[in-house]
Amino acid sequence: MALTGIQIYKLLPKTNCGECEVPTCLAFAMSLAAGKAELASCPYVSEEAKAELADAAAPPIRPVEIGTGERKLKIGGETVLFRHEKTFVNPPGIAVLVTDEMGDEDVAGRLERFKTLEYERVGLTLRADLVAVKSVSGDGGKFETLVTKTKNETDAGIILMTEDASVMEAGLKACADRKPLMYAATKENADAMAALAKDSKCPLAVKGNGLDDVSELTTKLTEDGLNDIVIDSGARGIRKALEDQIFIRRGALLKKYKPLGFPTIAFPCEMTDDLMQESLIASMFVAKYGGIVVLSDLQGYGLFPLLLSRMDIYTDPQRPMATSAGIYEIGGPNENSPVLVTSNFSLTYFIVSGEIETSRVPAWLVVVDTEGLSVLTAWAAGKFVGDIVGTSLKKSGIMDKVSHKKVVIPGYAAAISGDLEEELGDWDVLVGPRESAHIPAYLKEWKA
Ligand code: SF4
Repeated sequence: MALTGIQIYKLLPKTNCGECEVPTCLAFAMSLAAGKAELASCPYVSEEAKAELADAAAPPIRPVEIGTGERKLKIGGETVLFRHEKTFVNPPGIAVLVTDEMGDEDVAGRLERFKTLEYERVGLTLRADLVAVKSVSGDGGKFETLVTKTKNETDAGIILMTEDASVMEAGLKACADRKPLMYAATKENADAMAALAKDSKCPLAVKGNGLDDVSELTTKLTEDGLNDIVIDSGARGIRKALEDQIFIRRGALLKKYKPLGFPTIAFPCEMTDDLMQESLIASMFVAKYGGIVVLSDLQGYGLFPLLLSRMDIYTDPQRPMATSAGIYEIGGPNENSPVLVTSNFSLTYFIVSGEIETSRVPAWLVVVDTEGLSVLTAWAAGKFVGDIVGTSLKKSGIMDKVSHKKVVIPGYAAAISGDLEEELGDWDVLVGPRESAHIPAYLKEWKA
């Protein structure tokens, strides 16, 4: 049975050092009991206490890893129902389906789109994560060939989809070293699939006909020593599938019901024939609470918004996305190139640097550490003011890189120009445009 906050507290060091980012050991114990903290955040817990606390410390939804190397995907590990409570930690994997009954061209097209549909956004690369390879024919040889092709042509994490253990074995022969997710164990094949999962050390998905079925299966498998499990409730109606996702998350978090304490897999590809509607359904599972979302195909118009929505939802709301402070060279600037200064809010940095690039005027961009706040917010919070910006410019070393003495500040921070001039001595502070879209025109007119 899970420990209470007080029981956990008795096992903690009780020094209230605050290193766990919670002011007291008691508060930390309460968070741990509520599944909102991780034991690893306290560096001072004794080994004996760790052993006793292992149960309470485990996240209510077990983290499961699929794949290897750079493309290794971690799902599960969530500790909250709502993103505003803390944060969601492991974004769901997005998979594209290929089957052994598709024509070569169809398969090649999907694999090609898997490889090429990548998007840069605020310094991150957004893309799909997995290829789900499904045996429709029931032919082990055909399945193995398709799995081998997928493995050789992509670095994707792989989902092996068959309920026939002998076909699964053929798929594992081709890619067990890639640590695929085996989908799926059912009531009928659970023993055979469990044996394969144990031998190959690969995670195993269970498919039930409702959550009672799923709970029975996961209980059986965990008693058998398997813990890396992914859940499919079996629902293919949109409403029922959503209800199941919520029920699983609430059961695991609020009731600490262990048989449902695993990440889930959802199949929008089996819920509609319309690709646009499929993306909409997928976005629902990204928000609530899919661990993997399988799509029938990847097209930019559906994938890009889905990836953005995933990025937004899985960004920590308590930590603004920030770029490192310092000097950024754009377009190979020299000693006569303009110097611009901005805040380190990622979106601001990427928009401003993008507009400078568009202008084709080489420039120096000095990014000031504003703790991830945008220019106007940082100014209002006293983090983008004359003395701070001035000190940052001096420390950055930009004064040794240019022969002129001019710096361009954002139009929205015009109010700091006087203080900044005072701080910089003989430098001219020029007020740039308010909107970044006007930077190219501004820079074309700029003279050292
Ligand atoms: Fe207590 Fe450990 Fe947190 Fe320090 S880091 S306050 S010892 S729980």
